[in-house]
Amino acid sequence: MSALAAMAATEHQVLVIGGGVVGAGVALDAATRGLTVALVEARDFGSGTSSRSSKLIHGGLRYLEQLNIGLVREALTERALLLQRIAPHLVQPVSFLFPFTHHAWERAYVGAGVTAYDLLGVSRGRLRGLPAHRQLTRNGALRLAPALRRSALTGGLLYWDAQVDDARYVVDLIRTAAGYGAQVASRTQVIGFLREGERVTGVRAVDLESGAEVELRAQQVVNATGVWTDEIQAMAGGRGTINVRASKGVHLVVPRDRIHSSTGIILRTPFSVLFVIPWRRHWIIGTTDTDWALSKAHPAASRTDIDYVLGQVNRVLAVPLTRDDVAGVYAGLRPLLAGESDSTSKLSREHAVAHPVPGLVMIAGGKYTTYRLMARDAVDAVAHGLDGKVAPSCTDQIPLAGADGYQALWNSRHALARSSGLHVARIEHLLRRYGTLVSEVLALIAADQSLGRPLPGAEDYLRVEAVYAVTHEGARHLDDVLTRRTHISIETWDRGLSAADEVASLMAGPMKWRSRQIARELENYRAAVAAERASQEADTDTEADAILLGAPDIVPVVSNGAAAAVIEAEVSGQSN
Ligand SMILES: Cc1cc2nc3c(=O)[nH]c(=O)nc-3n(C[C@H](O)[C@H](O)[C@H](O)COP(=O)(O)OP(=O)(O)OC[C@H]3O[C@@H](n4cnc5c(N)ncnc54)[C@H](O)[C@@H]3O)c2cc1C
Repeated sequence: MSALAAMAATEHQVLVIGGGVVGAGVALDAATRGLTVALVEARDFGSGTSSRSSKLIHGGLRYLEQLNIGLVREALTERALLLQRIAPHLVQPVSFLFPFTHHAWERAYVGAGVTAYDLLGVSRGRLRGLPAHRQLTRNGALRLAPALRRSALTGGLLYWDAQVDDARYVVDLIRTAAGYGAQVASRTQVIGFLREGERVTGVRAVDLESGAEVELRAQQVVNATGVWTDEIQAMAGGRGTINVRASKGVHLVVPRDRIHSSTGIILRTPFSVLFVIPWRRHWIIGTTDTDWALSKAHPAASRTDIDYVLGQVNRVLAVPLTRDDVAGVYAGLRPLLAGESDSTSKLSREHAVAHPVPGLVMIAGGKYTTYRLMARDAVDAVAHGLDGKVAPSCTDQIPLAGADGYQALWNSRHALARSSGLHVARIEHLLRRYGTLVSEVLALIAADQSLGRPLPGAEDYLRVEAVYAVTHEGARHLDDVLTRRTHISIETWDRGLSAADEVASLMAGPMKWRSRQIARELENYRAAVAAERASQEADTDTEADAILLGAPDIVPVVSNGAAAAVIEAEVSGQSN
């Protein structure tokens, strides 16, 4: 029986729509409270906003400036939990240099803010896993970041936060939830609700790979669809209790050698802040913040966005960056709460939970850092709607798949290198991506030594990673591997084109692809890269969006329920 058929065979206590960090978090929270759970995701897991963020786990210095102390404390508590217990393999400390451009008052003002930030991050006398900030003279700042133009700063301050591999985190959350019994399916789109009177009793969904339509029954349905929240709400016919507005943020990826610095950098911009974030052998630079009302699945970065980011970072660099320095570009949409009605249960300024009709819970807003709290609040609302007592959330005690025993394994990395025959640098790379699940990856290499070789065209990765993405991480198409299980699409100059052939042929075995499907995957990926490059030459959002829409998804979603029949016809026409 297929995963979806098994899911349709039984009534679940909770059904989650959306496999981003929030939906995956809800599935894990519910499963670990002993509830029966199913989750459906229309695209690939994490392919919405949750793989397109700045990848920071932070309290938000901005909120501190707005004196939103509770929010900052809450987020810093989460930061410590993720760093130390929940996902130490995927969440790492990162430092930022804040260059001062004014004299004494700025040092005093920012210094006081960051002191408060550090203090809010202190628990029982210990800084939560991170060093305290320190003030720097101009020379001291320039020693850490020689790339800065001397005249661009009067001094500086160094503070610590954390960063995450956002796309991989979602996959590990999904795997952990599945380990606690959650049933999960990607490329399964909800197209309608099952009702009994006013009450929601489940959903109608399409398996987008086959076109088959299924009915999934559940006592409570949770809408965790981020910027798609309003569409699902409209489908349910409930009053507009939560409205989500999309705001676009664009990031550039440039090689590490283009900016000589041993620390990340944070800069004030006219509207917000800009981060220069270390990302393995690259920097991620961003972001922007502009309203977006066009395609939600593929927000486009225009030439204007790219020039804005370059312009902001070049204000402080001794050797300015040009477009030729940019290896990759990605854009994401923030799901911002646009307004709430009186019936909304408002849990914080950041996120909201609502119960618009019986049987349906909505959760939206928030940020990556606080996904676990959002999930807890959503499942608390679910618990109200279920008969009988439900245990409180315990996800603060649940390490993700790959986290348990990570520190000990990290300490044994040299021994692991010896026994596997891989260089210790490779083992470190694998440990930071797979944690203790590295044993599964190494077992594949032990069975086939050729999988231990680097991927041609993307030598930072091993061939085994393409295979493991399929066999253990739910990847089903070429883009899933090149963009989210690995980040080859933003880390290589050709955006993954020269690695694509090898990745497709490695995936072909476990996916049982024939030559026609391999060709289709490659053609689709090449068209997407060409459209992405062309869209980044467009001046406006509208032009950039139109160009991106010219390269359809490998598995298109349906625009409404009635279109399911069309999809079915398309899929049978495409099959090989
Ligand atoms: C530019 C940018 C930078 C950011 N930086 C940070 C940061 O540094 N730190 C931080 O803490 N936060 C950050 N955030 C915020 C954070 O990324 C988001 O709050 C978070 O990822 C939202 O997750 P989500 O699960 O709500 O949404 P998503 O990840 O978008 O998940 C929603 C999912 O629902 C699915 N879906 C939609 N409709 C259907 C349907 N009909 N059927 C089935 N599935 C459906 C979608 O395919 C999607 O995968 C940033 C956001 C942006 C845009």
